[in-house]
Formats: sequence, C-alpha cells, structure tokens
Amino acid sequence: MLILGIETSCDETSVALLEHRGGNALEVRANLIASQIEAHQLFGGVVPEIASRKHLEAVNPLLRLVKEQTDLSDWRELDLIGVTSGPGLSGALLVGVAAAKALSLATRVPLRGVNHIKGHICSTFLERPDLPLPMLCLVVSGGHSDLVLVRDFHTFERLGRTRDDAVGEGFDKVARSLGLPLPGGPNLERAAATVQKTGLRFTPSNMEPSFDFSFSGLKTAATQAFKKGQGSPQEVAYAFQTSALTQLARQTKRAIEQFQPRTLGLCGGVAANGALRAKMAEAAGDLEFVVPTPILCTDNAAMIGAAAFFEARDHEFPSFSIDDLGFEARSVWPIDAASQPVP
Ligand code: AMP
Ligand code: MG
Repeated sequence: MLILGIETSCDETSVALLEHRGGNALEVRANLIASQIEAHQLFGGVVPEIASRKHLEAVNPLLRLVKEQTDLSDWRELDLIGVTSGPGLSGALLVGVAAAKALSLATRVPLRGVNHIKGHICSTFLERPDLPLPMLCLVVSGGHSDLVLVRDFHTFERLGRTRDDAVGEGFDKVARSLGLPLPGGPNLERAAATVQKTGLRFTPSNMEPSFDFSFSGLKTAATQAFKKGQGSPQEVAYAFQTSALTQLARQTKRAIEQFQPRTLGLCGGVAANGALRAKMAEAAGDLEFVVPTPILCTDNAAMIGAAAFFEARDHEFPSFSIDDLGFEARSVWPIDAASQPVP
C-alpha cells in the first residue's frame, strides 16, 4: 500500500511517499522538504503572502521529484493521498489542499485532509510503530505548545496548551532581539551551549493547577534584560532556554504523575533541541521515551501521510469519492477537535 503525503501549513513545502509494511509499520521511501527560510530571513519572520507564493513554486517540482526518486511510474499506483488541511496559515494551506485535490481528482486516488498536530504526533509512530499506549505527547513547534494524552491512534485529549506564544515562537523572537539570524531556535540553542554558568535567571511561569504553558512574559523579560545590558546574547539565550525548558519539563512531569501514561513522546520542530531532549528523557524516568529523528520533528509530509494512513486504515478505507474533496483549509483546528474514536 502506497501513501502520498503533502504538507504546506507554514514555511516548509514537503512531499513524501510512504509504504505500508504491515501492522503499524510504515517505511518512509521519500520525504522531501523545500525550506523557505531564506525568503523570510530579510523580514525576521514568516511573511504569509511570501509563504503561499513559495509553496506554489515548490509543490509541483517536489511532487515530480518524489515520483522520480521512488520509481513510481504512475500516480494511479497510490492507494491514498493525505494533505494537511489545518491548522496553519490559510493561504499556505490552500496551496497543498488544491494540489492534493487536483491529483486525487485526476487519478481517482482517495484523499484525506488531516490535522497538522495529529501529523506531528504520528511522527512518533513512524519512529516506533508499536509504542505502548497511552502516550503523553509534548508537541512543541513554531505555532503550538500542546500537552496531549494519546489514548489510541485517533483519540486525543489536550491536557494543556499555551495561553499566549508557542515555545518555538518564543525562541525565534528572543533570538531576533539578541541579533541572531534565522532560524532563531537552533541559533539560540547554539549560543546557549557556549555558556556554562550565569547569574542571570528568569523564573519559569507557573500555570498550576492547569497543564497550560505561558512564554510571552519570559520572552519580554529576556528581551528587556538584553536591552538593559544585564547579560551577553549568549547568557540571555542560556537563561531563556533554561527557563522555557524547565516550564515544559515541570508540566510534563505533573501530567505523568496524574495520568500515568506508558510512553512519553516529544515532537514538533523544537524537539530538535538537544537540551530539551535530555530534559524530557530525564522526565520520562522509567517510561519509554520516544522522540523522532530531527527530519521527522520539523514540519514534513511523512508525518501527514502517516496520519492519513491510520485514519483510513481504522475507519472504513475510503474508495475515491468526489464528495470527499469538499473539505477546506482550516486555519484553526485544535487537536482535541480532531479526535475521532474508531467506530
Ligand atoms: P515547526 O513549526 O514544527 O516547523 O518547527 C519550527 C520551530 O522549531 C521554529 O520555531 C524553530 O525555531 C524551532 N526550533 C527548531 N530547532 C530548534 C532548536 N534546536 N531549539 C529550539 N527551537 C528550535
Ligand atoms: Mg509544525
């Protein structure tokens, strides 16, 4: 069984081909990502209009490349197409959704529009197909900071979310105010890694008794501290990162104690952060800890193909129907609203 994934929710165009290997196992045969980072660099952040245009330029060449690289002779060999239909930037999502609908219509291969955060969660299943459930999963990216209890492939309970900025957004904005170039997150991590110790400290936000997060106060504190000359860029980066990661780890540990999951998962772009991976491995204690390889952490289409596959497999596997092409791009689509218990 062959599954094509398409992802265009933010500033990465991605197309992937997966092959089902039995059970929950999916082999990633191709997972190409065209990053737009250079186009946005000048502006210090993602410009939605530019993002849409860049997706438009990249999506067809990427589709062609995946076809070539996997020796697919005809798109009709596909069994399923999955595309991110939300949440994300509306104009960006529309490009992937339109491309997927066109391909489905032309080939009569069934299509599913899937939730991007569900995709991130499914990247843990690509890494470890038979991980023990329930899994507590921390989804941390440029747009999201969610603590999700994953009961099965389709039932998600959002225990906590950010009340303001996503943690990746915090990394990016603080990096910018410290004069670090895009991509902010990885460059802030690099700057922080040069510091062993500093007197500068930002108290982590305490959102108890909820499992929510808050990063905007920390972002402002870090920006102000740098402006006032209270530390070098490296010291401020270190103190910011320490505070942000401490908050993430604390809430995760509290949720582990209360909900007793069997696995701890970490995914989303910020999961590439080495210090976060180490902190979460420690928070996991005796639990199994799963974090996908970095290429599956960042926005990519393999995770979208995986999410589409599990939905199709566990619900009546769709045959092509023009009615299934009626879904739209949804800029807002919380993960718990994407829960759909198996019938
Ligand atoms: P995504 O939204 O899933 O594509 O992830 C992108 C986000 O992850 C951006 O906000 C990046 O700055 C952030 N990010 C990527 N690598 C790192 C890192 N090593 N440390 C912190 N944040 C990171
Ligand atoms: Mg993402």
